[in-house]
Amino acid sequence: MNRFLGYRCSLCGQEYLPGQVEYCCPQDGGNLDVVLDYDAIRREWAPGQITASAEPSLWRYLPLLPVGDPGGSGTPLRAAGWTPVFQPPELAAELGLRHLWVKDEGRNPSASFKDRASAVVVARARELRRETVVTASTGNAGAALACMGAAVGQPVVIFAPKTAPPAKVAQLLVFGANVILVDGSYDQAFDLTVEAAGRYGWYCRNTGYNPFSLEGKKTGAYEIWEQVLPLVPAGGPPLCVFISVGDGNIISGIHKGFKDLQALGWLEQMPRIFGVQAEGSAAVAQTFLRGDENVQPVQARTLADSISVDLPRDGVRAVRAARETGGSYIIVSDEEIIQAIPRLGRAGIFAEPAGAAAFAGLVKAVQSGMIGENDPVVVINTGSGLKDIRAAMQSVQPAPVIAPAIEALSDFLESKTAGRAEPS
Ligand SMILES: *Cc1c(COP(=O)(O)O)cnc(C)c1O
Ligand SMILES: [Zn+2]
Repeated sequence: MNRFLGYRCSLCGQEYLPGQVEYCCPQDGGNLDVVLDYDAIRREWAPGQITASAEPSLWRYLPLLPVGDPGGSGTPLRAAGWTPVFQPPELAAELGLRHLWVKDEGRNPSASFKDRASAVVVARARELRRETVVTASTGNAGAALACMGAAVGQPVVIFAPKTAPPAKVAQLLVFGANVILVDGSYDQAFDLTVEAAGRYGWYCRNTGYNPFSLEGKKTGAYEIWEQVLPLVPAGGPPLCVFISVGDGNIISGIHKGFKDLQALGWLEQMPRIFGVQAEGSAAVAQTFLRGDENVQPVQARTLADSISVDLPRDGVRAVRAARETGGSYIIVSDEEIIQAIPRLGRAGIFAEPAGAAAFAGLVKAVQSGMIGENDPVVVINTGSGLKDIRAAMQSVQPAPVIAPAIEALSDFLESKTAGRAEPS
């Protein structure tokens, strides 16, 4: 545990000891970066020892995390992370790319990227012996916390907007969380959660508020380092990582993971990081495109609920993730997000709208020439399509209904052929 040195404010640079602060910088509210003792880690570990781990979860990176082993063996806590990476040849060909990977975070225990953050926050809560963990959530962060909490018997309270997709609310309830739906936006639920945590002494997991959520999310970068980077042709252009952005904590986490590896001397070439936002919720992208760090709230409106955010809680680090790596931000419409769902689906990958948004951003980046055929690309699908069936059904044609008789089938097949033969 001596590898966890403390925190550094991402705005003013002030450093704090582990016990000195809990969430954001007391001086300016800036997001805190966890500071690790890279020298100590490097002395004790070689990269080959980590990649040789038999642990099929993010806990294979325990030496690089600011928490101790949380136990929970045989539970879903030990199944967060270590998600598969696919290399869909048809998709790559359609886009004219030579190297395309999709990392499918829908395969996590609660079916989204958020399990990474919740696993590490629950580990931290247990170290601190906190009785209750609370989070605000558009659905996935809550489902992840509820799942990880259920795995190890940690009581949790979830505040979600009452408009959250029913599948996500169902997950919260089935995992046995104390669920409170808020008649308001995610941002209002966020502020209420911070206030409630203060009043009742709950440990707050909120995204872009609790520094340990980012420490969980950075493990996504470690996996890309292990699973994808060895396949990227040496001496060629750097890997490009496409990530959808709401609060900006995933993209900042991926950046932190690569920065850790760079600081350790274990990363040869920093990947370029591309953030994708929905047109109606693009506060971070607008800031990036303006060229400053002055993130202004918007009135968020997008069907991609997981990235529907008025005021991004990790906006500054999210802007830097793209700027400091030679990446960029791309803004996509809800229509483009919906079209991306069946395109990923045809490759056997089922994405919720926020996950498909990252792919929609890649499509746009290829069309505009921002990404060329030799750029190696990994797209992160951050959540499973089962999370939001209504959006999925909006992206496809409804299936025909026929009578259960062979004649009905042959009539149907004939009408279909006839329809297709007609001149358009
Ligand atoms: C939370 C979430 C995002 C966005 O992550 P931020 O840290 O809010 O930027 C993207 N996709 C899915 C599926 C999510 O649940
Ligand atoms: Zn500060």
